[in-house]
Amino acid sequence: MDEQIRILVVDDEKGIREGCRRILAGEGYAVDVAENGKAGLELVKSQHYDLIVVDLMMPVMGGIDMMGHVRDIDPDIIMIVITGFATIETAVEAIKHGAYDYIPKPFTPDNLIAVINRGIETRRLRLQTKRLMEERDQKLLEIANEKSKMHAIINSMADGVLVINRESQLVLWNPAAIRMLNLNEQLESGRQISEIIQNEDLIRVIKKACSPEASNYTSITEEIDLPAPESKTIMVNVSVIRDDESGQDLGLVATLRDITRLKELDKLKSQFVAMVTHELRAPVSAIEGYLTAFLTGAAGSDPQMYRQMMERARQRARSLLELINDLLQFSKLEAKSAVRKKEPLDISGIIKNTVELLKGQGESKDLMFEVDVPDSLPLVEADRTEMEQLFTNLISNAIKYNVKNGKVMVSAKPNKHFLNIKVADTGIGIEADCLPCIFDEFYRVSCPETRYTTGTGLGLSIVKKIVESHFGRIDVESTPKKGTTFTVKLPIKQKK
Ligand code: ADP
Repeated sequence: MDEQIRILVVDDEKGIREGCRRILAGEGYAVDVAENGKAGLELVKSQHYDLIVVDLMMPVMGGIDMMGHVRDIDPDIIMIVITGFATIETAVEAIKHGAYDYIPKPFTPDNLIAVINRGIETRRLRLQTKRLMEERDQKLLEIANEKSKMHAIINSMADGVLVINRESQLVLWNPAAIRMLNLNEQLESGRQISEIIQNEDLIRVIKKACSPEASNYTSITEEIDLPAPESKTIMVNVSVIRDDESGQDLGLVATLRDITRLKELDKLKSQFVAMVTHELRAPVSAIEGYLTAFLTGAAGSDPQMYRQMMERARQRARSLLELINDLLQFSKLEAKSAVRKKEPLDISGIIKNTVELLKGQGESKDLMFEVDVPDSLPLVEADRTEMEQLFTNLISNAIKYNVKNGKVMVSAKPNKHFLNIKVADTGIGIEADCLPCIFDEFYRVSCPETRYTTGTGLGLSIVKKIVESHFGRIDVESTPKKGTTFTVKLPIKQKK
C-alpha cells in the first residue's frame, strides 16, 4: 500500500537533471525533472512530491525563490539544494530558506543517494509524527466530547449522583444530588465525603459499601430518611466501580432517588385498606350477631321479634352491598384513567333522566322536584357512564338528606367556558366544620338527622374523582337545617 516516493529534480543543466533521474529511478523512486524554478513550481502545483532536489543558480527563477513558494504550497516537502559554490554562507542561506541539506557539485551517485535517502527517511518520520499528533488531538477532542456528553447526561438526571474515589473523596456529583442533600452549590472536587455530607445514615451506607465485607456484593440499596428541612425519604444505591481489566476497585457511585411521594402513597394505601376492612367488619358482625341470636334462640320466641331482627339483618346486608358497589366503582375509577371513554356529550338528557329515575326514592318524604335544564346544552368532553354516576350520587344525596315536603332543585346553564350544574336541596344541611371533610373517603357526618340514613361515605369522593378527571371542579355551600347546594363546573368543549 506504500505509494511510490516522488522526487522532482530542478536543474538548468540537462546532464545533471538526467543523471539524477537515472540514478534515483534506479533506486526505485518516481522522478520528474524541470529546467528552472518556474517550471518546477508548476509541477509542484499540479503534482504531489516527497522531495525536491533544486539547483541554487538557475535562470528565470532560482532555487531560493522556488523554495519559498514550495514551502507555501506544502511545508512538508523535503528540499535539497545542489550548489556549485559550496560555501558555509550559501549553505546557511539555503537552510534558512527551508532546505533540508545541500549537495556540493560535483557529486557522485553515492553522495546523491545517501543525502536523498536521509531526506526521505526524515520526511517519513516527520509525517509519522504529524499523523500521531493529529491522532492525539483527535482523541483529546473525542475525550472532551465524551466528557461533556457524560456531564450533560448526569446533570439532567432526576436522580442524584455522587461519585467517590478510593480515598473517600467526592469527585463527581450532579445538581439533583445537591438539591436532595441541600449541599453547598460551590462544591470542590476532592473533598472528603464525610466533610461534605452531614447525614450520618448516608455516610454509613457509603462506608458499608467501602468495607471489605462489601466485596461479596456489588451494590447496596437502603432507604434513608432525611430530616427537616429536607424531610424526604431517599432510596440510596451504592455500587462499586470495578476496573474490568485489573479487577481493582476504583471507587463508588451512589445514586439517590427521592421516594417521598411513593412512601406517602404507600401509607395512604395502607390507611385505605385499614379503613375498608373496618367499614366491612361493622355490617358483617351485625348480621352475624342477628343470625346467632336467631339460631341460638337468644331472641326469645316472639315471631314479631324474629321478623324485626331479620329485617335489620337485611338492611345491614343491603348497606354492605352498597358499600361493596361503591368500593368497586371507586377502584374502577382509580384504574380507569387509562381507558376512560370520553366523547362530546350533551348532558342535559343524562341529568333529566337521572332525576326521573330517582324521583321514586323521595316519595315517602313528599319531595318536590324542580328541574331547570334546557333541552340542549353546550357539549362537554365526558364519559357517559361516569356522568350518570356523578349525577346519581348528587341527586340521591339531595333526596336522602332532605326533610319531609322538602325540595330538590336541579339546574344547568353555560357560563363562559364552563357548564354550571347545580344540585340543591332544602334538607338538613351540613355544619361548617364538617364541610371540608365530606369529599374524603368513608366520611359521613354524624348527627341525629343522619343516624338512620344508610350510606358508605364514598359517594362524594367518587363524585370529586369524576369531576377532576374531567378537568372540572365542584363546590358546596350549605346552611344547617336550610339546605345544601353542590355546583359542578365542567369545561365546555371548544369548537375547533
Ligand atoms: P354517603 O354514602 O354517606 O351518602 P357521601 O360521600 O355521598 O356518602 O356523603 C358524605 C356525607 O356528606 C354524608 O354522609 C352526609 O353526611 C353528607 N352529605 C352529602 N350530601 C348531603 C346533602 N345533600 N345534604 C346534607 N348532607 C349531605
